[in-house]
Amino acid sequence: MSETSSNDREAHAFAGALTGRTALVTGATRGIGRGIALALGKAGARVIVTGRGETNGQAVVEELRQYSGGGFIAADLTDDRDVDSLIPAVLDQYGDLDILVNNAGIDADNPFLEHPLEDWRRVLKVNLEVPFRLSQAAARHLVAKKRGVIINISSVYGTVSTAEAGSYAASKHGLNGLSKTMAIELASSGVRVNVVAPGLIKTDRTEDIWGAPGFDIAARMPVGRIGVPEDVAGAVVFLASDAADFIHGHVLTVDGGRLIR
Ligand code: NAD
Repeated sequence: MSETSSNDREAHAFAGALTGRTALVTGATRGIGRGIALALGKAGARVIVTGRGETNGQAVVEELRQYSGGGFIAADLTDDRDVDSLIPAVLDQYGDLDILVNNAGIDADNPFLEHPLEDWRRVLKVNLEVPFRLSQAAARHLVAKKRGVIINISSVYGTVSTAEAGSYAASKHGLNGLSKTMAIELASSGVRVNVVAPGLIKTDRTEDIWGAPGFDIAARMPVGRIGVPEDVAGAVVFLASDAADFIHGHVLTVDGGRLIR
């Protein structure tokens, strides 16, 4: 399937499925998060974009205008004050929240023996502690209204690992485990929690991999192409929709068949 037909499929299959819902997507100023924000918008949701880059964030909000609109809230998720104020700001400024997508994530490749503690703490904070804190704050609102969806963006490195990925793999394995516990505890309150676990997706962050001389896509990917943000976004829209009403605590791998080899 070409990248274009993948986009078309995601745009049409769930048109209107999220009408009337309000979604917050972290790290939505670029890459996978931007793709998720636009796909949720196409499905009818009002989408609140958050991230550090005001210019990029406002550009995504501008793109969302053609759908159900949304807005931008600046937040640096390494700053505790921004983390604590984010969900209250959404509720205060937009009056509601139905869908939280914890997408923002970072990595810091280091050989285990030389892995600096500060890198470990930064990666674990953004990738695991922040989703915990935002989910807790959002879930208090969702439990009270007895409906809502939380989707955490993990990675295939939440299931397997590779050299130099110690902090990243630990954070994503942890995020999968946290999500399953949240799903168990929140299911009876009408709140669904699931995980989307991408394989290699073409974004700025991964350019050092797919842009490297001699990078052989076919050798790595059974499907024969690298993923695009819309591939991940389609899975998120499905899990956010009522079509996924009976799906709780699932880790949905979106990797072009990479892990089955
Ligand atoms: P990216 O670097 O292109 O985008 C990450 C986003 O998170 C950006 O908008 C960035 O501004 C934001 N972010 C990072 N640190 C932040 C902070 N302190 N405060 C606020 N925002 C912050 O990355 P991406 O490739 O789009 O990855 C998005 C998510 O998908 C991450 O959780 C990543 O682990 C996961 N993922 C990506 C791939 C891939 O191949 N690209 C594969 C598996 C999982």
